[in-house]
Amino acid sequence: MTSSGGARRPGRWGRIVLKLSGEAFAGGNGYGIDGELAAQIATEIVRVRSEFEIDVAIVVGGGNIWRGMAGEGVGMDRAQADYMGMLATVINALALQDTLERLGQPTRVQTAIGMAQVAEPYVRRRAIRHLEKGRVVIFAAGTGNPFFTTDTAAALRAVEIEAGALLKGTHSGTDGIYTADPRIDPEAEKLGEVRYLDVLSRGLRAMDNTAVSLCMDNELPIVVFDLMGPGNVRAILDGQSIGTLVS
Ligand code: UDP
Repeated sequence: MTSSGGARRPGRWGRIVLKLSGEAFAGGNGYGIDGELAAQIATEIVRVRSEFEIDVAIVVGGGNIWRGMAGEGVGMDRAQADYMGMLATVINALALQDTLERLGQPTRVQTAIGMAQVAEPYVRRRAIRHLEKGRVVIFAAGTGNPFFTTDTAAALRAVEIEAGALLKGTHSGTDGIYTADPRIDPEAEKLGEVRYLDVLSRGLRAMDNTAVSLCMDNELPIVVFDLMGPGNVRAILDGQSIGTLVS
């Protein structure tokens, strides 16, 4: 299933989807693309691919540039604002592609909204073929539909390409799912493992409900972890208990 090359060892899963929020690319002010942060993320991806027999697909968010809700908040048509958000994810995808390729990692960007001059359209079978050839596939433009999020896009793509898990990187200083927001509530406790239904019924902050439901219905494990923790993706693939496992 995975591409070959080098002395790589099996990881916890043979194929993953890594969800990167737009904010993961932003510097201190939360806006735009910080080249050093992008390089840090790309380096970790290249490193895990060199160590493990693993196919890596990535879904990128766009919150560092635009969020549909922000547009709606100032009176814009929600669907229009959401399309803007989807276009924002394409900017991040192209930045990440450039960063990965400068590190020697072949990549393909596939978009859910057609823009043939800059990226391939999303074609499931083609995405799988790219992964089998050792390319990192970056899925952009979310699901292609307004009123959804890139978390849901990540869940959807993960199910479609038969990934073993969805790794949801956070960057807000939290390193998993807590019983309450640890930045506000000092009593908040981190959960090592939690069931999908508990996430939904207790309103735990992990991913949006649509994304969690899709993973639940398809028995796709989610790992919520601190993306900025050095070596975290590697440690997760190594089988270590990092962040929170939702299953
Ligand atoms: N979006 C959308 N449909 C999708 C995915 C994303 O309409 O399937 C829009 C939505 O407006 C969202 C924006 O794109 O606010 C950026 O995505 P998201 O907020 O999920 O990015 P992240 O929080 O991961 O940076």
